[in-house]
Amino acid sequence: MSEPVYGKLAVIGCGLIGASVILAARAAGAVSQVAVADASPEARARIEALGFADLVTADPAEAVRDADLVIFAVPVMAMGEAARAAAPGLKPGATVSDVGSVKAAVAEALAAALPETCFIIPGHPIAGTEQSGPDAGFAELFQHRWVILTPQSRTDAPYQAAVERLTDFWTALGSNVELMDDKHHDLVLAVTSHLPHLIAYTIVGAAADLEGVTRGEVMKYSAGGFRDFTRIAASDPTMWRDVFLSNKDAVLEILGRFTEDLQAMSRAIRWGEGDKLFDQFSRTREIRRGIIAAGQESAAPNFGRDQRSSPDPAEAPDTKAK
Ligand code: NAP
Repeated sequence: MSEPVYGKLAVIGCGLIGASVILAARAAGAVSQVAVADASPEARARIEALGFADLVTADPAEAVRDADLVIFAVPVMAMGEAARAAAPGLKPGATVSDVGSVKAAVAEALAAALPETCFIIPGHPIAGTEQSGPDAGFAELFQHRWVILTPQSRTDAPYQAAVERLTDFWTALGSNVELMDDKHHDLVLAVTSHLPHLIAYTIVGAAADLEGVTRGEVMKYSAGGFRDFTRIAASDPTMWRDVFLSNKDAVLEILGRFTEDLQAMSRAIRWGEGDKLFDQFSRTREIRRGIIAAGQESAAPNFGRDQRSSPDPAEAPDTKAK
């Protein structure tokens, strides 16, 4: 990249996603300077040791001083508090975004906390792992992944220019960018991300609680399907508690639909309706093939895990002190 897209980047909350944004932006030459604020002393010590920020502080207002782009990468329900703490340091004309997994609630929290002199453009990279903390971050996380931006309804030219610049930033990091209404984002993600996590948390919890099956047996005989659920169910408890509480309406609506469909599957099994089961399983197999064709998943068996000669950085042990 010839010219950085922004001069100074400030990241507030530097765990898996915040660290990955910085590493990807550095690798792409998309920014020339980086400041970080994080509430966790352990995370700050790790960020200092990893050496990818020019300034590491506990004070968001100090980190955002003179920043051209500020990205909030804290758990969804901490966004408002972090934005209020950063507000006194923000320079007029700065672009402020976030990476939160829920958009309508975060957009409201940022707008309430920040001055009107900045450009607020909420965002969500559809990329992540079940790891947390700065050590889990890696520069390639956003390559070929979608980033959804949910701009405000402002139509003035300076705001539109800020949206274009933020789009250039994410494109430089290897992402595909889509603009979307925030409530629509929350409904789509309730289907594609939030409900699958709820199911994984529930199924792994239910298996662990089953009478007549010991915990040892669950671990020893865990088949591929169950193991894949345990990976998702190992995701950060704080992050996911916040997602469900902040996207309550959309999640409950999709959960209602899912419960009806599950009842239909249960009926088909009870009444021996093999055709119904076969049709459903054929339809879902096509959906997976579509995801692979869209380049969002590996076609290799077992998600390509058996082919890897070296450990995937995304599966490095979670070193974050909680
Ligand atoms: P993470 O690894 O847990 O990192 C979050 C960091 O922010 C922690 O170090 C945390 O410190 C710190 N923090 C919390 N409140 C703060 C505050 N008020 N001010 C400053 N720092 C604060 O989280 P993550 O997985 O990177 O997720 C961050 C955001 O990205 C979330 O909004 C999540 O919804 C979104 N997201 C996550 C993924 C994913 O796969 N993980 C994917 C896409 C989007 P403490 O530990 O002391 O609280």
